[in-house]
Amino acid sequence: MISIICPFYNEEQMVPIFFTELLSAIGTINDEIEIICINDGSKDQTLLSIIEQKNRLPPNIKVRILDLSRNFGKEAALTAGIDHARGDAVIPIDTDLQDPPQLIPELVKKWQEGFDVVLAKRCDRSCDTWLKRNTAQWFYKIHNKLSNTRIPENVGDFRLLNRAAVEALKQLPERERFMKGLFNWIGFKTAQVAYTRNGRKAGESKFAMAKLWNFALDGITSFSTVPLKIWSYLGFLISFFSFAYSSIIIVRTLIYGIDIPGYASLLVVMLFLGGLQLIGIGVLGEYLGRIYIETKNRPIYIIRQEL
Ligand code: UDP
Ligand code: MG
Repeated sequence: MISIICPFYNEEQMVPIFFTELLSAIGTINDEIEIICINDGSKDQTLLSIIEQKNRLPPNIKVRILDLSRNFGKEAALTAGIDHARGDAVIPIDTDLQDPPQLIPELVKKWQEGFDVVLAKRCDRSCDTWLKRNTAQWFYKIHNKLSNTRIPENVGDFRLLNRAAVEALKQLPERERFMKGLFNWIGFKTAQVAYTRNGRKAGESKFAMAKLWNFALDGITSFSTVPLKIWSYLGFLISFFSFAYSSIIIVRTLIYGIDIPGYASLLVVMLFLGGLQLIGIGVLGEYLGRIYIETKNRPIYIIRQEL
């Protein structure tokens, strides 16, 4: 059986279009199929729309609906879906048709060839805005430099995981779930399939700049401690230079006597160090805040009802 995980947040316009495309794409697959729809606390008629679609489907296609108690975010919605999936293969997919369902048979084919994980790689993102493409590229660069878990560029959450990979994923307990990183952390024998990323068919993106910034911070802090560690090295470097500089001053004072000017350089050094210290404390804060959230051990999502 194959489980398809579909997170919906305020997608009422997309629901019927998405189901039409999905059904035509999976028509050629012989395996049993289960569609898991997660309503991530939508404020519009998304849930009703999903239920309506469910009632219209032929009985051989199983649809399960997880209605979350509020908006928990895409990562949590995906986690809910993956936790409840019963399939031998699990495929998370965006419901705005930016991940083409037509690719699903190809993913399944690779899986049947013996791969554990099949990634869908976007070879063209020209539909995304210039800003998003570029910030995304920078993020991948920085993340991969800082962290031991590399995330392949231009691979989103759209992929196929077999049962073993899903069970491995379920063992990762963190609350701050950066799914792209977690997906890659588990490893397994991986294949790639390329596709062209389309624009959104209707509705609008839920990821504004501020949300993306936090998402990027989550990604880096979840998989790298380099930002925490560089401060001690920077500290050593600065202490070394201050030591050299103070030696020069002492020698100069001994030879030429006391010298009043120096107010400007003093102030510059003070402000510079003050700034560095604040940055260092800020980085500590980012990690501390995340540790704080983790220690509370709250559930990742809460299901209001299962339909
Ligand atoms: N989504 C979700 N919860 C959220 C935000 C988004 O379940 O809090 C879903 C959304 O319905 C869509 C997918 O995640 O199916 C991708 O969202 P979006 O298209 O807004 O992201 P983008 O493509 O702009 O990165
Ligand atoms: Mg989208």
